[in-house]
Amino acid sequence: MTSRHVDIAVVGAGIVGLACAYYLARSRRAPKVAVVDPLPPMSLTSAASGENYRNWWPHPVMTEFTDFSTDLMEAISTESDNRLHMTRRGYALATRQAHPDDLLRQLHEGYGVEGTGKIRMHGKGSSATYRPAVSADWQSAPDGVDVVQDREILERCFPSFDREVSTVLHIRRAGDISGQQLGSFMLEQIRARDGEVIRGQVVEIGRTRNFTIAVAHENSRTSLTADVVVNAAGPSVGEVAALLGETLPVVNVFQQKIAFEDVRGAIGRQMPFSIDLDGQTIDWTAQERAVLAEDPTSRWLTDAMPGAIHCRPEGGERGKWIKLGWAFNATPSVPAAALPLDPNFPEIVLRGASRLNPGLKAYYGRLPARLSHYGGYYTMTRENWPLIGPMETDGAYIAGALSGFGTMAACATGALCAGWVHGEALPGFARLLSLARYDDKPLMQSLLEGANKGVL
Ligand SMILES: Cc1cc2nc3c(=O)[nH]c(=O)nc-3n(C[C@H](O)[C@H](O)[C@H](O)COP(=O)(O)OP(=O)(O)OC[C@H]3O[C@@H](n4cnc5c(N)ncnc54)[C@H](O)[C@@H]3O)c2cc1C
Repeated sequence: MTSRHVDIAVVGAGIVGLACAYYLARSRRAPKVAVVDPLPPMSLTSAASGENYRNWWPHPVMTEFTDFSTDLMEAISTESDNRLHMTRRGYALATRQAHPDDLLRQLHEGYGVEGTGKIRMHGKGSSATYRPAVSADWQSAPDGVDVVQDREILERCFPSFDREVSTVLHIRRAGDISGQQLGSFMLEQIRARDGEVIRGQVVEIGRTRNFTIAVAHENSRTSLTADVVVNAAGPSVGEVAALLGETLPVVNVFQQKIAFEDVRGAIGRQMPFSIDLDGQTIDWTAQERAVLAEDPTSRWLTDAMPGAIHCRPEGGERGKWIKLGWAFNATPSVPAAALPLDPNFPEIVLRGASRLNPGLKAYYGRLPARLSHYGGYYTMTRENWPLIGPMETDGAYIAGALSGFGTMAACATGALCAGWVHGEALPGFARLLSLARYDDKPLMQSLLEGANKGVL
């Protein structure tokens, strides 16, 4: 078996592994980095991402973390002439509540003490002070949050929304990027710094003076030695940890999305990423409801469903496609190569999304043929915070559990991981995003008790 040495081996070439390799390779120490993966880069979970980003979270640590990531994405956008197609029309969180006191309290908690000044109220007659998201340009977009309750603004700026909506929380540091472009950019930079991608699966990791890593290829095995191993194996972070004799507190939960050509123009091309915060019962006809209720396997579709269904235009102002998603599944499962896509999901998510954007009802029972239905696993901790930092094994690091926020958080994850590996100064929140947080019992209790874990 041939063997060669690299300074750092990164397991996994999704957006997280590439971001780790990118920030590691950029350091002044210029380490030799190899990324190992049996699949083409960016082809597993990272290919299923909705590619949205936001700094809206129920806890200030996650707000700081994603703000840090957004700073880094903006730096790459500036450096690369916006190769990653970064936009910033915001997130529009809609509710029918006229007095959403709990939501406002959560907003204040999430943005922390410093954020309070960034929350702007737009009650009746305040339309002059609100800036609609006319431009997608991230550089000129406002920061903070606009709480819009003025009827005139709601109807003018969110014309496709259900007229029962009384409040829109417009999160302004939010939008979308092309995750694939970000991944390609990082890959080029890794290669330019003498880094490489090795096509193969890590099947064994031994630890003596350094790591000995057995890599299985289609018809052969090779071996690699490395001083440092970074576990960025996405849904398989648990399996790779097991190769080191470790267990990680993570589960995998399957989530789905659809994208289709909005041939009827139901969704305005300037609409921000829009989320219906309110729960609902899905809009079936009486006959459909009766059929679904009869069958024990489909009865749940007639029960109360959670909020957070989302919709956005895809492909810019000249495009026609839209994306819909609803992360209502909460049951962990073992990742399978054949994804468990539910053939009923397109109609379910369409019906759900039509509550906020009733124009979508035109597609009931007749979704366009040009439709893509896809999915992937949210690899999550119970508290829905990531794991970034040292593992128990000396020299091994984890960069995983990025749930439904790995595209937006990849840059921060890579930069933090590089900081841990190189022993550099880290932001104050870094320790809380590592395995060390499990020693902080009061923090863990408060995180696990919180009803809102920021799953979207
Ligand atoms: C439906 C859906 C929508 C989403 N929407 C968003 C969104 O809007 N915004 C956002 O920020 N995030 C979103 N996410 C989350 C985001 O896509 C993920 O958090 C992110 O892609 C995880 O990246 P990763 O690199 O950790 O995992 P992956 O992309 O899965 O990469 C892991 C890689 O590790 C490799 N690997 C596994 N085991 C081994 C081994 N033994 N040896 C070598 N290689 C191995 C795999 O082959 C794979 O290529 C969404 C996710 C889903 C599923």
